[in-house]
Amino acid sequence: MTAPPLLSLREVRKSFPAGPGRRAGRRTVLDGIDLDVGEHQCVVLVGSSGSGKSTLLRVVDLLEDVDDGQVLLDGVDVADPWVDADAVRARLAMVFQQYNLFPHLSVLDNVTLAPRLVHRRPRGEAEEAGRALLAKVGLADKARGYPDQLSGGEQQRAAIARALAGGPELLLLDEVTSALDPELVGEVLDLLLELRAEGTTMLVATHEMDFAREVADEVVFLHDGRVHERGTPAQVLDDPQRDRTREFLRRLR
Ligand code: ADP
Ligand code: MG
Repeated sequence: MTAPPLLSLREVRKSFPAGPGRRAGRRTVLDGIDLDVGEHQCVVLVGSSGSGKSTLLRVVDLLEDVDDGQVLLDGVDVADPWVDADAVRARLAMVFQQYNLFPHLSVLDNVTLAPRLVHRRPRGEAEEAGRALLAKVGLADKARGYPDQLSGGEQQRAAIARALAGGPELLLLDEVTSALDPELVGEVLDLLLELRAEGTTMLVATHEMDFAREVADEVVFLHDGRVHERGTPAQVLDDPQRDRTREFLRRLR
C-alpha cells in the first residue's frame, strides 16, 4: 500500500455569513475542494482576489473550521474536533502577506520563540539553530536587530526563518510578497525557490505567475469556490483549457 499524501483535502466546504443579520444568508467560499500535497511537493494556488486561497490555507492551519469534508494530515482527519489542534499546528507553519514579526523582540528572539516555548528547546540550542536559519535566509548579521530596522524583504525572510524554526512538515505561504515593494519581491521568491530545491513541502498562494511556473509541481486555479482547473504549470499557465482561467491570466498581464 502506498502512503497517503502528507496533506489531502476531501470535499472541503466552507461558508461565511454574507452580511450582518440572519437574513443575509451565507456565502460559500470553498465548495467541495479536493487537493493533495505529497511530501516534497509544491502546490500553488492561484485565483482572483476573493477566490478563497487564504481561507483554504487557514482551514489547513486550523484557523478556520470546515463546514464539511476532511482535512487529512498523513491520512488522519485533523478537522475532527477531537483532534489536538496545537499538536497539528506544530507540524505546520504559515507565513502571511503581512510579515507579522513581534516588534518588541529581536530578530533572533522572533525565530527562537516557538522552539523555546512550544517545543521546549533550551535557549542555547534554540539560538544556535536560529542563527543557522538566519544565515540561511541571508540575515546572519541582523540577529540582534529589531524588525523595524529591517527592510520589508528582510522582515519577510525573517518571518520565513521563524516559520522554519519549528521544523514544519508543511510550509503554508499566503501571498508572502504582495505587501513588498517590487524591488524586494525577488529576494523573497529566490529564498522560496531555494527551500523548494531542498525538498521543502509547500502549499503556496501567489499572484506571481513566473514564480508559480518555476516552483510548482501542480498549479490549482480556484474559481467560484471550486478547483476550476489544475495541472502542471505548463498546462494551466501556458495552455489553459477553460475560459475563466484564460481570462484570469490575461488580466494579470
Ligand atoms: P483570497 O485569499 O483568494 O483573496 P479569501 O479566502 O481571503 O480569498 O476570501 C474568500 C471570500 O471569503 C471573500 O469573499 C471574503 O470576503 C470571504 N471571507 C474570508 N474570511 C471571512 C470571514 N472571516 N468572514 C466573512 N467572510 C470572509
Ligand atoms: Mg488571500
